[in-house]
Amino acid sequence: MAQVFYYENTMDLEAIIGLEIHAQIATKSKIFCPSGAEYFGCEPNVNVDPVCLGMPGQLPVLNQEALLKGIRAALALNCRVNKYSHFDRKNYFYPDLPKGYQISQFEFPLSEHGYLEITLPMGGKKRIGITRLHLEEDAGKLTHFNGGTLIDFNRAGVGLMEIVSDPDLRSPEEAVLYAKAIQQVMRYTEASDADMEKGMMRFDASISLRPRGEEKLYPRAEIKNLNSFRSLEAAIRYEIGRQKMLWEEGKAPERDITVGYDDTTGHTYFMRNKEGSDDYRYFPEPDLPPVILEESFLEEIRAAMPELPEARYRRYLDQDGLSEAEALFLLDDRDLAFYYDEVRDKSGDAKRAASFVLSILVGRLKKDGLMLKECRISAGQLAELIGQVAGGKISMNIAKGEVFEEMYLSGRSAEEIIAEKGLATIADSAELEKICRQVVAENQKTVQDYMGGKDNAFKALVGQVMKATRGQANPELVNQTLKNLLK
Ligand code: MN
Repeated sequence: MAQVFYYENTMDLEAIIGLEIHAQIATKSKIFCPSGAEYFGCEPNVNVDPVCLGMPGQLPVLNQEALLKGIRAALALNCRVNKYSHFDRKNYFYPDLPKGYQISQFEFPLSEHGYLEITLPMGGKKRIGITRLHLEEDAGKLTHFNGGTLIDFNRAGVGLMEIVSDPDLRSPEEAVLYAKAIQQVMRYTEASDADMEKGMMRFDASISLRPRGEEKLYPRAEIKNLNSFRSLEAAIRYEIGRQKMLWEEGKAPERDITVGYDDTTGHTYFMRNKEGSDDYRYFPEPDLPPVILEESFLEEIRAAMPELPEARYRRYLDQDGLSEAEALFLLDDRDLAFYYDEVRDKSGDAKRAASFVLSILVGRLKKDGLMLKECRISAGQLAELIGQVAGGKISMNIAKGEVFEEMYLSGRSAEEIIAEKGLATIADSAELEKICRQVVAENQKTVQDYMGGKDNAFKALVGQVMKATRGQANPELVNQTLKNLLK
């Protein structure tokens, strides 16, 4: 349980927060060698080779796909992509780092000076500056076990984007909104799957406080390695409380520190005084040539940029007429957003597509605890079902009920099910007239009420006809036929 700090609010302090996000680049192989980039759920040490194991004399080669995806993410984050960048060695010793250094970028990163807008809960937008996005390699994974430590190098050498924000965030909530916005950009650009549960996106959060109104920055605490939105928010909240107490006691932090966060206690704990960049003895990686980008190459990437979350959101609102809640719900789940898009495109009916996807399909999957990819109804089949409704072949009620359920269970097409079960709307006006006449004859009291000016009575008659036809009559046709009979 997170501890809550109670303090006398004698000082007006403001929190200054910056995030460093590591996102795994979605490539098949590692960033500087041919081994597979899979590590989650793999047998230990199966995706390794001499380069990522740090054997002497092995040469790294930059993965082109990793570079391309890094650039695409940088452009989506409004960064300036540098025509010249190079890799550096970041020297430190740790058992999960077999070379004794990490290949990263320091002085000349791939991209800089970007921003991302977040939508604040009270409305309005806030622009969060992005200092830089650079490429680097991940380290291996240590597992402490029975008093010993096991090392798995599957993750060593997997490509990462490190995205550093300016210290523009002011609350734990803003930090989470920003982190979620970054996750969306990663997913819609396909630069990273950004799956937190698989460790594909991790956060370091820097926090300092200052008396409101001051411009200067005070020493900060950097919380390392947060791997869920929940712990990101809780850790920042705790750290703000901890520092607030120090300020209140007249013991404001005097040096930068690195802290860890313990999920079980909800506390941050001191790890070390923060290392400066000098401590890493950065120097240019001699085994990799600098990355020199032609304008034409960048133009090609710009021209092929996929639709970004913000544009998609506007399209859902302005063109499709979805509500803000519906648009946000779709954006949150890229697979669902693409599925919806396909249903809408194939049916040409945004309103019905939204209704079928967002309420009926999502509700049904939720009931069974299934993911969209486990759904047996393809987007094309759902569009066809919508077509059957739009074309008057079946009523909306029958489509949503019996037909949808049967499609969901069997994966068969709407057309097949409608034919087999005889669910098509009664389109034959002579037959419908016969049924309407019968309903009128059997409900004289209701007819009198309607003639006497009671509109509800008419609805009751329509209901009777629908009942007599087991919902298979076209409601508009029923309306017309009854009105003609009762003129
Ligand atoms: Mn890093």
